[in-house]
Amino acid sequence: MNHFDYRDGDLYAEDLPLSAIADAVGTPVYVYSRATLERHARVFRDALSILPRVHIAFAIKANPNLAVLNVMAREGLGADVVSGGELARALAAGMAAEDIVFSGVGKQHHEMIQGLEAGIGQFNLESEEEGIELAEIAAERGLVANCALRVNPDVDARTHAKISTGKAENKFGVPIDRACTIYSNLAALPGLKMRGVAVHIGSQLSELEPFEEAFAKVGALIAELRAAGQTVTHADLGGGLGVPYKAGDVFPTPEAYAQMVARATEGWDVTLMFEPGRVICGNAGVLLTRVVRVKRSSNQVPFVIVDAAMNDLARPAMYGAWHDFDAVAPTGEKMTAHIVGPICETGDTFAMDRECDALAPGDLAVFRTAGAYGATMASSYNSRGFIAEVMVDGDKWAVVADRIVPEAISAAERVPDFLKD
Ligand SMILES: *Cc1c(COP(=O)(O)O)cnc(C)c1O
Repeated sequence: MNHFDYRDGDLYAEDLPLSAIADAVGTPVYVYSRATLERHARVFRDALSILPRVHIAFAIKANPNLAVLNVMAREGLGADVVSGGELARALAAGMAAEDIVFSGVGKQHHEMIQGLEAGIGQFNLESEEEGIELAEIAAERGLVANCALRVNPDVDARTHAKISTGKAENKFGVPIDRACTIYSNLAALPGLKMRGVAVHIGSQLSELEPFEEAFAKVGALIAELRAAGQTVTHADLGGGLGVPYKAGDVFPTPEAYAQMVARATEGWDVTLMFEPGRVICGNAGVLLTRVVRVKRSSNQVPFVIVDAAMNDLARPAMYGAWHDFDAVAPTGEKMTAHIVGPICETGDTFAMDRECDALAPGDLAVFRTAGAYGATMASSYNSRGFIAEVMVDGDKWAVVADRIVPEAISAAERVPDFLKD
């Protein structure tokens, strides 16, 4: 469910026609719906209310825009961060430090200091080496870091290889069969308080079975840890629940997910932590774009060239991902086209042989479900700058990220003296 619907033949974001945003700020532009963000945060939270003790940390990497984080903070969500930059954003958006979880396989020394000094709620350690380093930093400062040990359960998430994180060959977590030893070693260090285990097997999961398989292994580990005399009060089950990108696709609901979790974690007696990203913000955003040109060669499928490109929305180029593509003011006619951006790379293709609304130069269109892993993955490839982001709230709207023009990027570059003579 989302709030991007047609009214009298024009696509709206909540109560605002998308064409009004295009007129005011130009294209391409990301448009987020506040009501949709809130709805998804609430649906997820309500679904999990069948579980005894729950902490939800929005995975900021899915959409780190400060306005989006503000909505999440107002909904009572904490944050899952994977860098010092994300940590600073979470705090700036008003998330309480104790509600912040720091994940990531390559936390740097200065980022660990930043997290400790901010007093974040939990570090999810991804290796014994990392734990030893964090323990030293904490002990030097007379602080104690609450930690969970991220385990790699060696489970196939059955999603795209680039966003699969729970197989033995992936870089994430410690092998589950070594977890008890590593946990015990780390628990003995001053500076660390080992309080739980964490698992995150991947993103855009379309089935619940891989989660359940992973959680079963975590349950066995918790029992093993307790039998070894360790304390376990928290279990972080990560994120990963997928969303339908294609109209008609069916995905497990948050309710079904919560029921599976209830089953899998029965008797654990811990606070369950969750790190949803995509499922909260995925379909709360669209990428609004304008057709630059329609290029036709005889007997071939035409190219609809839009002003958005792979630097603005990387998912199709990076993961071969599908985004529904609809005209903002459809005529009722259809066409089959290749949808491409202007970038000088064949990878800059949003869709091949796509049956879509008939489009002419100057027409507006949207890539749907662009609220997660959209703007956050943008680059300035081909010196295209960064596009604006807008949030809609009923019939109100605001630019929540300015367009960063190519000149602003090149202004940070220098020609050194040795090239000047
Ligand atoms: C990316 C990530 C998430 C969020 O994944 P979604 O698929 O967006 O829910 C959660 N936890 C960790 C550790 C991650 O790396």
